Amino acid sequence: MPNRAGAVIPAPDDDLCLAFANTRYWRGTAAPTEELNEPGDLLRWAAKAERLPPDLTAQLAQAADLLDEAIALRETIHRCFAATASGLAPADPDVAALNAALAAAPARQRVRPAGWEVGWPEPSAAALLAPVLWSAADLLVRGRLARVRQCANPDCGWLFLDNSKGGNRRWCSMSACGNRAKAHRHYLRQKDVPTAKGG
Ligand SMILES: [Zn+2]
Repeated sequence: MPNRAGAVIPAPDDDLCLAFANTRYWRGTAAPTEELNEPGDLLRWAAKAERLPPDLTAQLAQAADLLDEAIALRETIHRCFAATASGLAPADPDVAALNAALAAAPARQRVRPAGWEVGWPEPSAAALLAPVLWSAADLLVRGRLARVRQCANPDCGWLFLDNSKGGNRRWCSMSACGNRAKAHRHYLRQKDVPTAKGG
């Protein structure tokens, strides 16, 4: 095996872990939309969202059970932040699972421009998702945790970081859920809704 120098993994955005959690959405409906249906979907997502170097992604792709592990991690992350968005602490088993994945992720050995140098990792879901795991850990322990929200549409389930000045953003986006709710309220006002039972 060639003696490889460490790989440089770009530093993740604060909300990368939420973007990963949102690869499944319409979670409150009978048929949620799943974006990660096969290992290739996961590798494409990682290459694009995590901006992993292509040779690193190719190396990590060799692990067979990457997808199942990655989806389990995604659900752990979703549960953690759905809890904090409702003002609850994440469940102990979810924190333990996140910590175990963090321990299995490559260590950030050295700061490099725009990223970290890590040792050349063995193929694993924790290695592939290292930037997601780092962003989840950083978000959980810093002040911006109070800005993590879950879309007010119960069908949606989308997690996001509220960057609005007033900190009062409620919807994943007005076009996807906000307008739908507005239109629904408008409809209820226009409709002659009976206020009493029977009649
Ligand atoms: Zn939404």
